[in-house]
Amino acid sequence: MWGLGREGRAIARVVAERLPGTPLTLVDEGVAGAGEGVSSDPAALLGCDVVVRSPGISRYRPEVDALRDAGVVVTTGTNLWFAEHAGAPAIGVTGSKGKSTTSALIAHLAAAAGRRVQLAGNIGVPLADLIATDGGGVDLWVLELSSFQTSDLDASPPVGVLLNLFREHTDWHGTQERYHDDKLNLFAHRRDMTSVLNAADPVVRERGAGLPGPRWFCDGADFDVAPSGVTRGGAPFVARERIGLAGDHNLVNVCAALTALEAVGVAVEGVTDALADFRPLAHRMEPVGERDGVLFVDDSIATIPEATVAAARALAPRPAVLLVGGHDRAQDYAPLAAYVAGAGSGVAGVVGLPGNGARILDRIAEEGSTTTGGPLPPAVLAGDLADAVAHARRLVPAGGVVLLSPGAPTGDDFRDFQVRGDAFASLVRSVLEG
Ligand code: ADP
Repeated sequence: MWGLGREGRAIARVVAERLPGTPLTLVDEGVAGAGEGVSSDPAALLGCDVVVRSPGISRYRPEVDALRDAGVVVTTGTNLWFAEHAGAPAIGVTGSKGKSTTSALIAHLAAAAGRRVQLAGNIGVPLADLIATDGGGVDLWVLELSSFQTSDLDASPPVGVLLNLFREHTDWHGTQERYHDDKLNLFAHRRDMTSVLNAADPVVRERGAGLPGPRWFCDGADFDVAPSGVTRGGAPFVARERIGLAGDHNLVNVCAALTALEAVGVAVEGVTDALADFRPLAHRMEPVGERDGVLFVDDSIATIPEATVAAARALAPRPAVLLVGGHDRAQDYAPLAAYVAGAGSGVAGVVGLPGNGARILDRIAEEGSTTTGGPLPPAVLAGDLADAVAHARRLVPAGGVVLLSPGAPTGDDFRDFQVRGDAFASLVRSVLEG
């Protein structure tokens, strides 16, 4: 076992159960590895027959090649799940953004259609925990798969969904091309599968052209997004007010979910009512409170500028103050700057958070000086999140929204996006009570 996070430990348990007596070598290079019987040196793996790599360890590390050259089989928990569940009815969902929401939507709607669903992968139960179970009569597995998990898949599900391909995660995958190839690998291992593809994403359109059994959405011909809501072949299918999620990006996710469900034989006309009671997942455009007509929204999961734009767009034309910034990954903030500086964005203010908040504000100012849109909204730099919430309250007009959608991963101030979102929610609660 290489990497002893949650998944590594789960697989070690399965091996001990299924193959009792098999000697296990445990390697972990981080703090999780501290403990007896655990080596911190990957060279210890060279004597193994099979190495199971944790998702956090890049398959592009030179040690992986060294293992393969030495004849060691290198695999992952996700591959082990596929090997044990060949032929299982499954929908795999991947893409840069929207995976969790779309996976949860598919599971919610399939359950409404009477299917026995198991949600697994990044959301729901980790696949590593499900290697040795048939799920007790599960008739649809919905698997949320990040590029870490798809990158060296050696099997494909019967139905795969590709939502979009943005620029992200280059530190792990090396290059942008490779990151996209890694996601496309979900579709590489069977020709009889259905590929559910987003025609509205230019990169998916280009790279998805040769995938097996394509079913496109958002191309006008089938499910698509219109001002009225979700349409099918141009005719109204579900009205916007009857969907429990805000924003066009979420309607895109609904189109993906409906297309995938139909591909596994669900009569989608029968599940549209269930769209009304689907609730946003935590930290994803999650309303955390309202006071004096001002709504506070936690979209802490937004780690790239495109996600911030999607969130802001979802709330427009309601005026919004954006809280942006975090760990700098040398991302290009042009899309966000263009959105803020453009006409009709509804952005009423921008508050920069510690980390790269200052760089984002600079980029917006630069955009403002070169475009001919109206005047830029006010911008301020905050010392910390509490300071940012205070600035935002000052800037937000009546009936507006304060939106934490940082467009950057967390820096030193928060461990992860959940902690950042929880901190925001607790600051908001003190505002609401104060
Ligand atoms: P993932 O699991 O891929 O990280 P989530 O469903 O958790 O995606 O959504 C994360 C954030 O990404 C959302 O809060 C929203 O800001 C943005 N987002 C969701 N779906 C889309 C989409 N289809 N296109 C663009 N951005 C999206």
